[in-house]
Amino acid sequence: MSLKELKEELLETAKVSYNLGLVAGTSGNVSAYDNEIDAMVITPSSIPYDTMTLEDLVVLKLDGKIIEGYNEPSSEWKMHAKIYTERKDIKSILHTHSPYATGFAVCHEKIPVILIEMVPYIGGDVPVAKFGMPGTESIGIEALKVLKERKACLLSNHGTLAIGETINKALTSAIYLEDAAKIYHIAKNSGEVKVLSDEEVNAMKNS
Ligand code: 13P
Ligand code: ZN
Repeated sequence: MSLKELKEELLETAKVSYNLGLVAGTSGNVSAYDNEIDAMVITPSSIPYDTMTLEDLVVLKLDGKIIEGYNEPSSEWKMHAKIYTERKDIKSILHTHSPYATGFAVCHEKIPVILIEMVPYIGGDVPVAKFGMPGTESIGIEALKVLKERKACLLSNHGTLAIGETINKALTSAIYLEDAAKIYHIAKNSGEVKVLSDEEVNAMKNS
């Protein structure tokens, strides 16, 4: 995929995230790593999604050196760079403040495996990463600790993170994370939540 195509997919994903309500205002950010130029494309800081254009995106090396773009990159670029540095299998990262999932992030409460979709799209339950100061790589360091066998996690008192081998996979994981959080919230208020057993989860993973 060319850099232009990667930018187009990234911009589309940013707008879809906004239209689905995974991010509000200018919160959240999304990036994709390009192997060929050994750099990431990331959304700019504090630019509204509905008017965001391809030219607004920023291309930067993992050390922060900007190679394309006239905007400030997302204030969370160090979190994205840390994850690409440590996880060579990951090519896209989507950070949201999606409301139901962030509600559990505020409570430091993990989301257990309550739905079958959580197995393929998240890898199991949704863990909670310890609080990291916004704008620092410590958010990435804490997220990496809980993302070993997971495609998404909660960021304490902040939001969510979804990772994937493609932009579309990261988006899909973020969507299923918010869906699971919403249904878990409803279930907790409806009765006694029954969680899928480890045996059931493992059987699904191996099927
Ligand atoms: P940016 O607009 O700088 O990407 O910040 C949004 C955000 O979610 C900060 O955590
Ligand atoms: Zn944020």
